[in-house]
Amino acid sequence: SRKAEGGNGIRVFEPQMLASRKKRTETEADILRGVEENLFEPSFQPITCLASGQIIGFEALMRLNHPEKGLIPPGEFIAVAEETKWIDHAGRQLFSKALSGLCALSRKRGDDRLHITVNLSPVQLTPDKVAFMERELAAYGIDASRLTVEITEAVFMEDNDRISESLRRLKEMGCRIALDDFGTGYSSLAYLTRFHVDTIKIDQTFTKGLTHSDPALAARSRRLIEGIVAIARKMDCTMVAEGVEDEEQSLQVLTIGVQYGQGYLFAPPLPLHEALKRV
Ligand code: C2E
Ligand code: MG
Ligand code: MG
Ligand code: MG
Repeated sequence: SRKAEGGNGIRVFEPQMLASRKKRTETEADILRGVEENLFEPSFQPITCLASGQIIGFEALMRLNHPEKGLIPPGEFIAVAEETKWIDHAGRQLFSKALSGLCALSRKRGDDRLHITVNLSPVQLTPDKVAFMERELAAYGIDASRLTVEITEAVFMEDNDRISESLRRLKEMGCRIALDDFGTGYSSLAYLTRFHVDTIKIDQTFTKGLTHSDPALAARSRRLIEGIVAIARKMDCTMVAEGVEDEEQSLQVLTIGVQYGQGYLFAPPLPLHEALKRV
């Protein structure tokens, strides 16, 4: 589209800019409504033991359950929620519902070892939020060892006291820490020497690479995952392969030595009532 410039130097917005401004305003309004009306909730995606096929836990993935628009996925609002700090409120709503969901799932299965994992962005890692999580765990009677907090390498990019203190406190409580989307961030591996990570989640791009139509690329993906598994073993981490979509990928990651898998092959993220049927 053509740039329009008013004679007095006032820049007239192009239709595209107007559209994206409108979208941004709409997203902010949706988030605000979600915060006020308690509309943030988890979908539950099973994490499966590759060898036995047993579900060992669920990742609680955030959705905005909009009364008119339906379930809005995080890709559409997380960045704005982080920027505006509304993520803190959204994350609290998600966390409480994730824990009550875990109680229902455990009851259904008759197994109080089932795990729950939640994603925390760097802005969410505050002592205040950690204290909230500790209170909620106690209120639901859930042992902290059943909670895994997923962070990304972005957390380690800045040497931030607030973040390291929050992580230290989570570990002290007995929570487990997982590195999400491993190998796709921009940080160095040095944090692995400074901080004990319990679980490495192998990003779905690597899992997908295993079944690439070009056999040379597939072989390189396999060798890369072998390398990640070697690091994870040395650092005493368990491993989860993300984005497992077919039997071939599942078999390959198991053969390489990955214990757990998550992906559409097993189940997509599910509403609680669906997750209850599968557990
Ligand atoms: P993530 O934590 O890496 O979650 C995995 C994403 O991959 C999820 O997308 C899931 O639906 C999708 N996925 C699972 N299995 C497959 C598969 O087999 N194939 C493909 N193509 N995709 C699969 P979702 O639910 O849209 O979440 C996207 C991202 O949003 C998450 O990535 C996470 O980074 C972020 N997120 C989700 N919930 C929260 C939250 O509560 N707080 C924060 N800060 N971020 C969240
Ligand atoms: Mg995750
Ligand atoms: Mg991930
Ligand atoms: Mg991701």
